[in-house]
Amino acid sequence: MNLINGKQIAAEIKTEIAKEVAKMIDDDDKNPHLAAVLVGDDPASHTYVAAKEKACQNVGMLSSVYRYPAETTEKELLNIVHFLNNDPEIDGFIVQLPLPKHIDENKVIEAIDPKKDVDGFHPVNVGRMVINLPAYLPATPFGITQLIQRSGIETEGKNVVVVGRSNIVGTPVSILLSRKAKFGNATVTLCHSKTENLKEVCANADILIAAIGVPEFIKEDMVKDGAVVIDVGMHRIKSDKTKSGFKLIGDVAFEEVSKKCSHITPVPGGVGPMTIVALINNTLKAAKKEVYG
Ligand code: NAP
Repeated sequence: MNLINGKQIAAEIKTEIAKEVAKMIDDDDKNPHLAAVLVGDDPASHTYVAAKEKACQNVGMLSSVYRYPAETTEKELLNIVHFLNNDPEIDGFIVQLPLPKHIDENKVIEAIDPKKDVDGFHPVNVGRMVINLPAYLPATPFGITQLIQRSGIETEGKNVVVVGRSNIVGTPVSILLSRKAKFGNATVTLCHSKTENLKEVCANADILIAAIGVPEFIKEDMVKDGAVVIDVGMHRIKSDKTKSGFKLIGDVAFEEVSKKCSHITPVPGGVGPMTIVALINNTLKAAKKEVYG
């Protein structure tokens, strides 16, 4: 069994991005700039945004965080989005989700200029991805495809099963892997809570991607001998074996499944580290005007 080391692959990509940023600064005196809008006090959102800021610093990019209280109205947030859409100093920006309940997330996402939508959530970017036009790809699916490619795993003609059809993970990764494109060309089955015979469908996969949100859902009898297993799940559970009293586990029962597969991503250290790398990669593309010209 080979462990797919997301931490190492993410570090390699960051080094590549840092070189490109340094070159941009040398050649054009231009420093890519990512902004993040953070509304409310959700601790996880604050942690994610801090990690994004740090990643920008690590690769030499500029970052700005716009923090607003939970009572911010939808209209006020839309005005902020409008301001960032028109700020020439900002190459790309994200609005950290989830937003407070009184704000319609879809309305906010649709208000972002697709050219600055480095999360890749705007319907224009999703549509461009579907028809294989240059687009900002959503972070986790892009990260998964990078892990597969950089581990030397072939996707062409392979039987891929994705469990979970969310807009941010399962559905876009199923599209990316089935596209007529380099590192696509797989035959993809997208499963969800209404799928019948899920165990049999999964046990037929050459590449199994678990994005379910249920701890250790994928068991050994759902995995074919020699399969590649990508675990997107992330759950913080209590543990008396760690100093913090908590540990992270995924959607795959790692101990039993790892004995059967050819490659597997660990949790932590698999898909997770790739997500932020994808965001800074999109910001670099925005600064270089690579997607929309
Ligand atoms: P989500 O929006 O909750 O979607 C879960 C999907 O799994 C849904 O499509 C659901 O089916 C399906 N599902 C749930 N129970 C099922 C069952 N018993 N059998 C078959 N399908 C089932 O989740 P998500 O946002 O995609 O996230 C999935 C996991 O990935 C979570 O643990 C999340 O924390 C993690 N995650 C990690 C990263 C990272 O960077 N590592 C990024 C994003 C998410 P229905 O559509 O029928 O309801």
